[in-house]
Amino acid sequence: MTSRTDESAARTRIVRTARSLFTRGLTHGSTGNLSVRLADGTLLLTPTGSSLGTVEEDELSRTDLSGKHLDGPRPTKETFLHAAFYRARPGALAVAHLHSTYAAAVSCLDDVNPADALPPLTAYYAMRVGTLPLLPYHAPGDSSLEPLAERTARSHHAVLLANHGPVIAGASLEQAADAIEELEETAKLHLLLRGHGTRPLSPEQAAALAPTSP
Ligand code: ZN
Repeated sequence: MTSRTDESAARTRIVRTARSLFTRGLTHGSTGNLSVRLADGTLLLTPTGSSLGTVEEDELSRTDLSGKHLDGPRPTKETFLHAAFYRARPGALAVAHLHSTYAAAVSCLDDVNPADALPPLTAYYAMRVGTLPLLPYHAPGDSSLEPLAERTARSHHAVLLANHGPVIAGASLEQAADAIEELEETAKLHLLLRGHGTRPLSPEQAAALAPTSP
């Protein structure tokens, strides 16, 4: 069961995180969505067509773990990605997805390593993100991506959707937001450094910091 207090706290945290990401330019227009898994196993998500800058606590959607709409406004059409991450990662209690500029830019490069889209340029990236598989392009809301997303999420808490943006699960919404911000900053560094000789962390240095993700 989910107590009213737990759910009300989750609603407050979703809106607080949404505002913080939006006001700092990490998402724009009506892009990006956040979700939290409640104690009863249902998901609270930002609804379709809403802006993270203006969504309110009483405007969140609820679905089950299959992504089926239970109550509230219609959920984001990217709900299937959130649901896939929660099914694949029983310890994940929150998922963040953004179309943040630099991560989206990296997702459009033609020389990205699909097994790991960004080098471990900094220790904090290695700690909070680690390995970042690139999932192939699918049109927004195309749920044929769901089986691959779920399979990949079993071994990775973060993925980058090609020509789109990142999806990250965390043990809390704050942890998922921290990780997605770290990813965005590393994508920015990566693009700033293109054409320069760079020295990312060695595989050993990165492995020593690898995240223990939920
Ligand atoms: Zn999206």
